[in-house]
Amino acid sequence: MVEGIIIKGIGGFYYVKTNNGIYECRARGVFREDNITPLIGDKVKIRVNDLDKTGYVEEVMERKTELIRPPVANITQAVVVMSAKDPSLNLWLLDRFLVLSEEQNLNVVIVINKIDLDNSSFVEDIYKIYTDIGYKVILSSCKLNRGIHELKEALKDEITVFAGPSGVGKSSVLNEIQPNLKLETGEISKKTKRGRHTTRHVELIELEIGGYVLDTPGFSSLELDFIKREEEVQYYFKEIRKYSDGCKFNSCLHFKEPNCEVKNQVESENISRERYKNYLNFLEEVKRHNRRY
Ligand code: GDP
Ligand code: ZN
Repeated sequence: MVEGIIIKGIGGFYYVKTNNGIYECRARGVFREDNITPLIGDKVKIRVNDLDKTGYVEEVMERKTELIRPPVANITQAVVVMSAKDPSLNLWLLDRFLVLSEEQNLNVVIVINKIDLDNSSFVEDIYKIYTDIGYKVILSSCKLNRGIHELKEALKDEITVFAGPSGVGKSSVLNEIQPNLKLETGEISKKTKRGRHTTRHVELIELEIGGYVLDTPGFSSLELDFIKREEEVQYYFKEIRKYSDGCKFNSCLHFKEPNCEVKNQVESENISRERYKNYLNFLEEVKRHNRRY
């Protein structure tokens, strides 16, 4: 049997990339009995027919991660792309994507693109806040060819999903990294395309440097409904989690409790006010959700 990875699935066929090329495979009935449907990204063992490059998926290896929307297995990394301008940087959205990535246990890289459009110190401030927390942050510009090499290095040998609002340059930076990808850029053309092909499939794109990127942005749902308890919200904010040991109450939510070390650290600017605001915002959301159910 041959090992490979499913890079595409169309109409019951799975396209499995192996060291010996791509095989068009069907899945064996046994999966349906086990209630396993092979996913894009699955590492599989296939029985092959080398005459016509077809095969059967015989075994699906254990998944490291499993993304629901879009449904992909074994993603290792999320690249969260924002732009300095056009559209302007939305920190609420950035923190939201970070929470969603943490939930999936993905390694996170933050890309702030279009730095050619901003000459204030805002981008530098953002850079400092998020690197201090421990995130890898790349400042990039397709126009100035900045940060592209660094991002390329970060994608090597990973299976990456790109996330971020439309128009920030997700396709553009990928084209810079590997021009032969020829991904469509610019809002209008992409929107009309989406309208025409409503049943678009997802696909892993192999990178020349090694590794794969998903051709569809991740986290199409921004719901935080996987957070069941208010105490869990802080788990997704590394720096808040770090200081929460110093709070007087074990159950401190860092909201109105007295002797809260997290609030102290916000006051002394070791925790960013914006981050703290978003934390409280998400906390409120989980509270509201809990009241409803
Ligand atoms: P996506 O929707 O996130 O994939 O964004 P696109 O890659 O389609 O880019 C949206 C628009 O931003 C396009 O018109 C690009 O030419 C433009 N763009 C992308 N990167 C940059 C950049 O670094 N600087 C500037 N000024 N424009 C950029
Ligand atoms: Zn506290």
